[in-house]
Amino acid sequence: DLTHGRILYLEDVHVSFDGFRAINGLSIDIAPGELRCIIGPNGAGKTTMMDIITGKTRPQRGTVFFGGTIDLLRHGEAEIAQLGIGRKFQRPTVFEALSVHENLELALQGSRALRASLWGRLSGAQRDRLAEVLTLIRLQDRMTRSAGLLSHGQKQWLEIGMLLVQDPKLLLLDEPVAGMTDQETERTAELILTLKGRHSIVVVEHDMGFVDRIAEKVTVLAEGAVLAEGTLAQVQADERVIEVYLGR
Ligand code: ADP
Repeated sequence: DLTHGRILYLEDVHVSFDGFRAINGLSIDIAPGELRCIIGPNGAGKTTMMDIITGKTRPQRGTVFFGGTIDLLRHGEAEIAQLGIGRKFQRPTVFEALSVHENLELALQGSRALRASLWGRLSGAQRDRLAEVLTLIRLQDRMTRSAGLLSHGQKQWLEIGMLLVQDPKLLLLDEPVAGMTDQETERTAELILTLKGRHSIVVVEHDMGFVDRIAEKVTVLAEGAVLAEGTLAQVQADERVIEVYLGR
């Protein structure tokens, strides 16, 4: 069975928008614990691929399996999140009026947390996980601060933390270092490398320095399908990859 042993398995997936083939025979598989970077020019289908995995977009054709046996095409968006797929969009969407800690509690508990007064209602295991995540995202000394007062980079880490408290099996990160300073970018690389192994991670990113820092294996998308796969050095040396980036 081809899907066996893969955390994520897409085969011959097709998505058209009003006849335009945004995803055109996409096949990709990710091993458990793998950290994969997806690159490709604008319009290659990277966002649509993430939308397919999270159930936001339904392919007209193809196979999408998670965890070896779960057919994602049989599940809706909310169910897919429950199955252990966490997605971070490019722009941070933290609750600015709430503290760092409250944002993480909310992510742990859902909207019920708004009514209960928070810290006391968490289980011991939840409290441990929250403390662990605060350390991972390096916001432990800012946990009572309003999220709105954080820097752009800190907001992005908080949002990653909001996914991590739910301990997702698969983490999807859309341009996690967009708009970050060099130092924030380096800290984000360290964070992602720390997460590797415990979580399978798919990162869509344009910053090649960052990709080089974190990725073992890179997948290049173009025109809705895989153009090349390998180390960053391998794909960057590929004539076809050079061509799509130069737009010839
Ligand atoms: P990327 O993220 O790699 O830049 P996208 O997945 O956003 O690429 O888009 C792939 C192609 O599909 C683009 O040409 C885009 O214009 C088109 N597309 C994406 N979403 C829609 C939509 N909802 N309706 C029509 N066209 C879309």
